[in-house]
Amino acid sequence: MRQTQLFTKTRKEAPADEVSKNAQLLIRAGYIQKEMAGVYDYLPLGLRVLNKIQNIIREEINAIGGQEVLMTTLQDKAVWEKTGRWDDSVVDNWFKTKLANDGAELGVGNTHEEPITQMLTHFVNSYKDLPVYVYQFQTKFRNELRAKSGLMRGREFLMKDLYSFDQTEEGFKAFYEKCADAYRKIFERAGIGHITYRTVAAGGSFTTGLTDEFQTLSTSGEDLIYIDEEKKLAVNKEVLTDENLQAFGLDKNNLREEKSIEVGNIFPLGSRFPEALNLKVKDENGVERPIIMGSYGIGLGRLMGTIVETLSDEKGIVWPEAVAPFRVHLVILGNSPEVAVAGDLFYEKLKTLGVETLYDDRDLRPGEKFADSDLIGIPTRVVISEKTLQAGKLEVKKRTASEAEMMDESDFLKSL
Ligand code: ATP
Ligand code: MG
Repeated sequence: MRQTQLFTKTRKEAPADEVSKNAQLLIRAGYIQKEMAGVYDYLPLGLRVLNKIQNIIREEINAIGGQEVLMTTLQDKAVWEKTGRWDDSVVDNWFKTKLANDGAELGVGNTHEEPITQMLTHFVNSYKDLPVYVYQFQTKFRNELRAKSGLMRGREFLMKDLYSFDQTEEGFKAFYEKCADAYRKIFERAGIGHITYRTVAAGGSFTTGLTDEFQTLSTSGEDLIYIDEEKKLAVNKEVLTDENLQAFGLDKNNLREEKSIEVGNIFPLGSRFPEALNLKVKDENGVERPIIMGSYGIGLGRLMGTIVETLSDEKGIVWPEAVAPFRVHLVILGNSPEVAVAGDLFYEKLKTLGVETLYDDRDLRPGEKFADSDLIGIPTRVVISEKTLQAGKLEVKKRTASEAEMMDESDFLKSL
């Protein structure tokens, strides 16, 4: 994409009320736009990152047998009353609305355990219909009390939510571990695997016992975790008891305290939702059995915000290759016609080769172009200038490197 065609512009300053690093950088670089606190638009650059994150998650969840659906935002009060979660005193962050004709109340979805369980009653009748693993990418609405963390805590945000339905406890546990593995791969591919820990955490009032969170180390995190580096396992402060440490074979003296961000979680839910919504099956002996359920969430914006919080530097964003909006940032310097022709030619060549390229063909001073390039954070910058043309080379700089190097075009193309 040519930067002269990109309607967004970089900004020197983020909005004054924006305190989080992820929102400041993402707004300044033109990835997102703030509508109001906790509510953001994704702009062309931001949507490319979001789509890459979504594809990584989709591939890994499909690989463990997830079937993708898309459920509705408007939710039936009656379904939620059956599980006792309609009342604001039980779930306090609901947005609710009313029908125009009869004034009936509707929920604006904050999660989907109830609707998805209800939906399956139309399809799951026998033990032969199980297991079922269903997921979606869907916008959730939550009336969060505090929304000062940019993309990490939105009032409207895209979530991957996966729900598992198994006939046996063993089947459930096997899938739960598969999902934990898939999460590891997702965070690895998204570039934060090395700082992300599976973490023992408290179950909410609707889970059974302990749950697992995936926590990424960050000084801007809201959680405190205690890490055993060797085991690559952590315990959330909220469940740090001698009993739990013992259960997971952890020694208090080996644990390191860190602040962290919950990028994802997995919950054992037992049979509570299937029972309340009358989803049950007969086993091979004709005996009615409860269905064992789990739910598994990842906030896509939170993941994007976490990458920015943890990997950026004083100059701007540093995208890992797999989620970067473009692979190469091609920058031409000066306004000589030769440079423009060489830039255009190389841009066309990269396009033909399928290398996603942002082409800075704007008429700006080099300093401004470099500052923008660092702020936007594409992994590889290639400069074409009179100097590089004279040398017959390209000037190549990785976003993570301090120095540029002069390379032959053929060597550079091979390096991709
Ligand atoms: P938190 O404790 O941070 O509020 P939660 O326990 O409410 O999170 P879930 O309801 O289980 O989280 O949601 C699943 C995932 O969705 C979380 O792990 C997180 O990645 C993401 N998420 C939750 N709330 C938000 C939010 N307000 N904005 C963006 N992402 C969110
Ligand atoms: Mg929450």
